[in-house]
Amino acid sequence: MNRDFTLTIYRRLLEALLDAGYSFQTFAGFMEAAGDRTVVLRHDVDKRPAFAAAMARLEHELGLPASYYFRVVEASYDERVMQGIAGLGHEIGYHYEDLALANGDMATALQSFQRNLERMRAIFPVKTACMHGSPLSRWDNRSLWQSRDYRDFGIIGEPYYDIDFSTVLYLTDTGRRWDGDRVNVRDRAQGQRASIARRTGDIIKLALQGSLPSQLMINAHPQRWSETFLPWAMELVAQNIKNIAKRIVARRQA
Ligand SMILES: [Zn+2]
Repeated sequence: MNRDFTLTIYRRLLEALLDAGYSFQTFAGFMEAAGDRTVVLRHDVDKRPAFAAAMARLEHELGLPASYYFRVVEASYDERVMQGIAGLGHEIGYHYEDLALANGDMATALQSFQRNLERMRAIFPVKTACMHGSPLSRWDNRSLWQSRDYRDFGIIGEPYYDIDFSTVLYLTDTGRRWDGDRVNVRDRAQGQRASIARRTGDIIKLALQGSLPSQLMINAHPQRWSETFLPWAMELVAQNIKNIAKRIVARRQA
């Protein structure tokens, strides 16, 4: 079995969607004027921004725009990477988690949302936002909008609120599989259809058969996609061998 979730397979997926006649829009573009046969590539950059940069370059090579959502925490927020990605024509959006960071304090969270948005907007024209799932927190970041409207902050779209997932097919790579969203409590879209694919190859097949719906949102977390597993795994094995060797040597010297 070929390894899934590599950039090579990601490229094949995008090429299959292009062959199937889809156009690609940023989420902001989709909110402004949704295409009839269209794909929104959404990337929640939870961590490791360098992976996002690699994905952004690949999409740019194919002439495709995507939307990259950055958190304000150190693991994600890297202005140099963000500028590079924006320079390739991609959208930069805010992956917010202010309610979790504020430990559920609504007023503090709203202030923090505004402050963080202003910080990003000093550099990028941030028009859309999507919530971070904060799996370790008891706070659901979406609850921020129970008392306020994100449109008051100039945000024109939040996928969880603004996309009708009974018509737009939502595919997310949760757990490095495309049918894993049932196990993720928060990254689940309301009204969503049953999963149609497990492996990326399944989606490619459906695209080439013309069996996919006309509007799709694909949420690919860049840190889950890389080509570097093999060197990394070999490094790990090499390190283990070294450690075993060291122990043998140590035992002999004892
Ligand atoms: Zn996230």
